[in-house]
Amino acid sequence: MTNVAQKYSQWQSQLILIGLLLISLILVSPSAQAATSTKTITIESNVVNVRMGPGLSYDTMAQLKRGEKIHVITSKNDWYQVRLDNDKIGWVASWLLHNTEIGTSTNQKGTMHETIYAYLNPRRNSQTLGTLTAGDAVTIVYQQGGWSQVLFKKTVAWVPSNTITIDQTVANTQDVVDSTIKEMTVASEKANLRDTPSVSGTIAEKLKNGAKLTYLATHGNWYKVKSQNGTTGYIANWVVDLTNQTAQQKKITSIAEATIVLDPGHGGNDSGAISNKKTYEKTYTLKMANAIAKRLRKAGARVILTRSRDRYVSLKARPKLAQKVKADAFISLHFDSSNQDNEASGVTTYYYHKSRDLKLAKNINRALKSLPIKRRGVEFGNFQVIRTNKRPAVLLELGYINDNQDYHYIKSQAYRTKVANAVYTGLASYFK
Ligand SMILES: [Zn+2]
Repeated sequence: MTNVAQKYSQWQSQLILIGLLLISLILVSPSAQAATSTKTITIESNVVNVRMGPGLSYDTMAQLKRGEKIHVITSKNDWYQVRLDNDKIGWVASWLLHNTEIGTSTNQKGTMHETIYAYLNPRRNSQTLGTLTAGDAVTIVYQQGGWSQVLFKKTVAWVPSNTITIDQTVANTQDVVDSTIKEMTVASEKANLRDTPSVSGTIAEKLKNGAKLTYLATHGNWYKVKSQNGTTGYIANWVVDLTNQTAQQKKITSIAEATIVLDPGHGGNDSGAISNKKTYEKTYTLKMANAIAKRLRKAGARVILTRSRDRYVSLKARPKLAQKVKADAFISLHFDSSNQDNEASGVTTYYYHKSRDLKLAKNINRALKSLPIKRRGVEFGNFQVIRTNKRPAVLLELGYINDNQDYHYIKSQAYRTKVANAVYTGLASYFK
């Protein structure tokens, strides 16, 4: 029997175990499906950046478009390490992907029992990338035709599957803490809290439908949790509903807990207004967004930009991002322009939805009094990015770009720092 066949039969027995469990728990089938679809995810957004490392500060190495598939290898903080279709390995921010279940995905681990070349392609006459030595631990990210693709020196390589002994435990991973999960609810008539992350683990407590559990860690397809009785144990991820969504909707009380989407106006073909020096609004909105982002991140906020370079982003996509990441505030950044040069001056804070946006607008406007350009105040503004926004949203016009005096400030780093501090102050008072 080849190793692939062994693996297949392991799978079969695993499936039988899962099947038995499902029957014994009188489970409804839809919730069971999640457990089997954890490794590959399909991109649902227009564009998702793949970065060299797990953070926004890493360079973008590739972009994924809607419909493309990626394979999740592991997770770190809020980032997923993924294998792209061209076998490149990179990192994707978890909040750009819809599926909260993928945080639980893990790859099979194994041990080399033969010293063998690591191949570029799944065939013996392929170029080699180095050597794997008997006893080396490997992470298998993909298998096909008797070959296993394994992580190798920050990339992937292929080895014949029969040179790897696959680790035997059902859940052969370590506990990983996913900071986006806080609690969960049992979504099955009966569920068991077990002492190990396996259906063969001893039952530590029987749980009722709707029971609340505190999340501790993720272990393969299992969650390590604490019950209301104080019992700590593991529960299968297919018998619970994550309630982190409701947790995130709870009112936050500090900027450090907030997710802020900053929207640098215009970009790419859309240059926005033009200054008297023939420079573009889009350039200064991006610089401004970066300055504000830096200030807010320093305060601990999670800050996401609708664009981080000079590219076109549609007016539809901008509020959509805010919705997707459940932004606590969306701030669109612009500079005004009057018909005649040097005809108007001032900063304006616009809102659209009175009930949702006005409080945010007032708080930010109040803080903008520290700016050297005079305030024109809070106004209703029918702008698409705030009109179609489902999160608290404002649009700031931070001076007239075709007014020489305003422009003097707009182009300066000192002004950006002042605006960044004012936005921080406004948000801090808003979240209080
Ligand atoms: Zn504009």
